[in-house]
Amino acid sequence: AAASSGGLVAYADSGSDAAVEKPQLPQRKKVVVLGTGWGGTTFLRNLDTKLYDVQVISPRNYFAFTPLLPSVTSGTVEPRSIVEPIRRILEKKGGEIKFWEAECFKIDPQNKKIHCRSDLGTNLDGNGEFLVDYDYLVVAVGARTNTFNTPGVVENCHFLKEVEDAQKIRRSVMDCFEKASLPFLDEEERKKNLHFVVVGGGPTGVEFAASLHDFVTEDLAKLYPSIQHLVKISLIEAADHILTMFDKRITHFAEDKFGRDGIDVKTGYKVVKVAKDAITMQNPATGDISVPYGMAVWSTGIGTRPFIVEFMKQIGQGNRRVLATDEWLRVRECDGVYAVGDCATINQRRVMEDISEIFKVADKDKSGTLTVKEIQDVLDDIYVRYPQVQLYLKSKQMNGIADLVRSAKGDAEKESVELNIEEFKKALSLVDSQVKFLPATAQVASQQGQYLARCFNKMKDAEEHPEGPIRIRGEGRHRFRPFRYRHLGQFAPLGGEQTAAQLPGDWISIGHSSQWLWYSVYATKQISWRTRMLVVSDWTRRFIFGRDSSC
Ligand code: FAD
Ligand code: MG
Ligand code: MG
Ligand code: MG
Ligand code: MG
Repeated sequence: AAASSGGLVAYADSGSDAAVEKPQLPQRKKVVVLGTGWGGTTFLRNLDTKLYDVQVISPRNYFAFTPLLPSVTSGTVEPRSIVEPIRRILEKKGGEIKFWEAECFKIDPQNKKIHCRSDLGTNLDGNGEFLVDYDYLVVAVGARTNTFNTPGVVENCHFLKEVEDAQKIRRSVMDCFEKASLPFLDEEERKKNLHFVVVGGGPTGVEFAASLHDFVTEDLAKLYPSIQHLVKISLIEAADHILTMFDKRITHFAEDKFGRDGIDVKTGYKVVKVAKDAITMQNPATGDISVPYGMAVWSTGIGTRPFIVEFMKQIGQGNRRVLATDEWLRVRECDGVYAVGDCATINQRRVMEDISEIFKVADKDKSGTLTVKEIQDVLDDIYVRYPQVQLYLKSKQMNGIADLVRSAKGDAEKESVELNIEEFKKALSLVDSQVKFLPATAQVASQQGQYLARCFNKMKDAEEHPEGPIRIRGEGRHRFRPFRYRHLGQFAPLGGEQTAAQLPGDWISIGHSSQWLWYSVYATKQISWRTRMLVVSDWTRRFIFGRDSSC
C-alpha cells in the first residue's frame, strides 16, 4: 500500500522536476537488477530510483504472483489476473528506469559488466548480445526446477514454475479428458489418460494435487459423467511424509484428507525414470514399479541456474551448491554484487568464528574476564549480529544471559561470577547449532528485496557516517543492521475450501476458516489494485459459475 501511494507522489514529483529545473545528481551510480520476480520487483518498488541510474534486465517483462499459479492450472484464476507488466510498475516510480527484455548469461565481476542476450532481435554481429556496465548489481534471477538428472523428466513432465507452465498444464488436463472420451479407446487406455501423477510432496505439489482434485470433482465430473470414475490422481514423494516443512499435525491432516479424497499418496517412492507413457518409481520393499499415466507434473525442488554456477566458479564458490551472500546480502569477495531470493542463500556468521573478538569487545575493563553485566551490555549487538544466540536461549528455555553464565559455571550465583575466555567459549559452544537456513519462498525473497532497497536508499548517508550500530565483528564496521527474516506464517491449501495455516508462535489452524484467511491474505498481497480486482472477481466467478473447462 505504501509503495503504491508512494508511486503517485513520485510521479507528480518527476513531473514538476521537468517543468521547473533539471537539478542535482550529475553522475548517479548505475544499479542493474537481474530478474523481475519477487526479489527483483520488491527491490525496485522500494528503491528510491531518483538516487540511481537503474536498469532492469529480465527475459520476462512482467511480475507473476506465483502463489496463485496452482489456481491457474485449474482455471480458478485467469493467467492475466496474476501478472503485472514490469513497465507499469516502473512507470509508477517516475523518472526513467530502463528495462531490457533479455537474459543475462555471464557476469564479469572484474570489469563490472554483464553479458546479456535477447532473442527478440539481432545486432550488427548477427546475434542479440550486448554488454551492460554496473556499479551495483542486484542478482534476483530465482532458481530452476531440479530434475536430479532423472531421465525423461524434461521431455515428458510438466513443471509448475512460470505462468506458461500453468497454462500448459490446464490445456493438458483438458486434453487428457477429451482424449479419454474418444470413441475408439478401450477401458485401459481411458484409465491411462486419466491418471494424473504429481511428483513431489512439497507445498507446490500438494497444492496442485488438491486443486486438480477440486477441478475434477467439482467441475469435470459433471461434464464427463461417463469417464469420471476412471480418474486417478497420484502424489509421489521420496520422503516418508508429504509437507515435511510443516508441523506434524498439518502433515497428518493433509495425508488423511488426501486419503479420504481418493488421492493416492505414495510416500517413500523415488521416481527414477519417466517414459512417454509410463513412470517408473523405486521403493526398497517393492523394487521398481512402472505405472501408465496421462499427464505428469514434476515439482521436487529447485536448483541453481547454470550461469550462476559459472559465476560461482569464477569467484571461488565452485564447491558450493547455492550462491552465498553475507547477512547484508552481499556476494562474498565480489565488490558491488548483491543477491536476493531463491538464487542465493545467506551464510550466517558463526559465533565460534568470532568468539575471541566478541570477548575482547565485551571486556570493557580489560580484566580478562567477563561479568554478567559486561555480557549484558553487548547482548543486543550480539543478538543482531548472531540471531542464533537468541534462538538458542529460547530453545533451552533460558531467561537471558545469566542462565547461560550459570550453566557454564555450574554452581555460581548471578551477579558476582565472571567468565574467562575458556568458560565463555564453553557457554556459547552450542549456539551455532541454531543457525537456520531460510526457505526458498516469496516471503523471503520480497523481504530481502525490501531490505536491500532500504540499504540502497541510505547508502550515501552510510558512506558519510560509517560507524554503525553493529560493532562486533573483526573486519570493518557496518552501518546497516544485517538482514533479519520475519516469518509471517505459511499456508497449505488442501482443496475442498480447506487450508492449513501455520502461523508464528506455533499457531496451527486447519479448515474452512483458514481458507478465508487465505483468500484475504492473498487478495491483500496482490501487487496492484488491478490484479486485486481481477483475482477477486475470478474467485467470485468460480463460486457462482464454477471453473471454465474450455481451452
Ligand atoms: P523468481 O520470482 O523466480 O524471479 C526470477 C526472475 O529472474 C524472473 O523474472 C525470471 O524471468 C528472471 N530470470 C531468470 N533467469 C534470468 C537471467 N539469466 N537473467 C535475468 N533474469 C533472469 N512462496 C511463498 O512464499 N508462498 C507461496 O504460496 C508460494 N507458492 C508458490 C507456488 C508455486 C507454483 C511456485 C513455483 C513457487 C511458490 N512460492 C511461494 C515460491 C516463490 O515463488 C519463490 O520463492 C520466489 O518466486 C522467489 O523469488 P525470486 O525473485 O528469487 O525468483
Ligand atoms: Mg526476482
Ligand atoms: Mg516470481
Ligand atoms: Mg534464498
Ligand atoms: Mg571484564
